[in-house]
Amino acid sequence: MPKSSLSRRDLLKLGGATAILSGCKSKAQANSPPEVKGVIFMVSDGMSHGVLTMAENFSNIVHGKGTHWWKLIDNNDATHGLMETSSANSMVTDSAAASSAWGGGVKINNTTVNVRPDGTESLPIMRQLKQLGHKTALVSTASITHATPAGFAAVTPNRDDEHLIAPQYLGVVDIILGGGMKFFDPRQRVDSRDAILPYQESGYDFLQDRDSLLKSKSEKLLGLFGKKHMEFEVDRLNDKELKKSIPTLAEMSEVALKRLLPAKEKFLIQIEGGRIDHGAHLNDIAGLLWDQLAFDDAIGKVLEMIQNRDDILLIVTSDHGNANPGLNGTGVKYKDSDEAFKKITRITSSHEKMIQDWRKQKSKDPVFLTTFIRKKLGITLTPEETQTLLASLTSKPFTEWSNQLSNPQGILGQIVGNHTGIGWTGTSHTSDPTIISAFGSQSDRFHGITPNQEIHRHLLELLA
Ligand SMILES: [Zn+2]
Repeated sequence: MPKSSLSRRDLLKLGGATAILSGCKSKAQANSPPEVKGVIFMVSDGMSHGVLTMAENFSNIVHGKGTHWWKLIDNNDATHGLMETSSANSMVTDSAAASSAWGGGVKINNTTVNVRPDGTESLPIMRQLKQLGHKTALVSTASITHATPAGFAAVTPNRDDEHLIAPQYLGVVDIILGGGMKFFDPRQRVDSRDAILPYQESGYDFLQDRDSLLKSKSEKLLGLFGKKHMEFEVDRLNDKELKKSIPTLAEMSEVALKRLLPAKEKFLIQIEGGRIDHGAHLNDIAGLLWDQLAFDDAIGKVLEMIQNRDDILLIVTSDHGNANPGLNGTGVKYKDSDEAFKKITRITSSHEKMIQDWRKQKSKDPVFLTTFIRKKLGITLTPEETQTLLASLTSKPFTEWSNQLSNPQGILGQIVGNHTGIGWTGTSHTSDPTIISAFGSQSDRFHGITPNQEIHRHLLELLA
């Protein structure tokens, strides 16, 4: 028999193979990802790439174990890519344009929330989903009316008009947890209008502390745990009272997901670690890293809660880089780098709180400042470092060649960096793409490079 012709046995074999193949196909069809019931969209605001590595090393030092995001990056079932982050008017976006690209589907100018350059308005994703009867939630350690949460649910030409954003979540967002009391409370609002009462009248539980949040049985929540932003995690951890009264990002996320995961409706939740960005603006490495670890705790809690679900999509990303911090090699053959980095664990205050506390003392004595910094940051400044910092804090002239780093935040960041090895490129956002990690149903959509406004299309395709 010529080799090319097929015997009956070959045909049977082939038939069997075809049957197996077709069986595979139907099995593959049966295994096609289930319809997405909910999307959990997690944002480490202003997280430059180097933060991931530093958070992993920092977590290993302070917790004796690595981070959840690092593990997720090593998980073959997750998809990873980059997100392009430019805005309509700049290679460098702010949080308002970035979140509006996700929430409204088009790139717009910095500082605007879902208002396009031509003045027309986008319909934010949560308003669209609400019209379909879905559930929605915003959770943040920043003011909940800040740009990143607002981009999913609000419209305003100026992101700073947070008092105009506060009433806009009513009827749009079911669970609202974060800071921002001054934009809701009539005693603190610029127009003295009560922006809390309408929520209460619509069935929201109004919550102001950790206990009442954990005890609430309501499906609708308005929880405000800070006048503006919630405390930096490093300040919360070093204050017994704050630890008792203020919930963590992981706790707020758990409270929200306990309501969303069992619900019959589809849902979208945005969970933001809002103060990583602030730590970067302030060149405050301990402030930044402790908040990144708090964000990572929230990732861990979310992964635990969705472990038996195949109908949930988790996205973990950032809206833009900020100040590009990194550990620089120090000492001969870089042998001092590890010890320098470990000094960050001695820091017990954010730069923000430390400078506020120092100003309250009303002392311009260099010895006092040196002692003050040793107590709060665990490092001893040289006399030259103290003089330069004092000049910067009291607006006296001093030599600094980097325009980006010539403000007090940049000076303090550089001085702390002399001891910890941490360097910063500036005190503002950067043009870098961000990392996007996706896990769960339909996560393979997010490989390669995703332009930020494409997130909107994916969310609509998955949830509408
Ligand atoms: Zn920022």
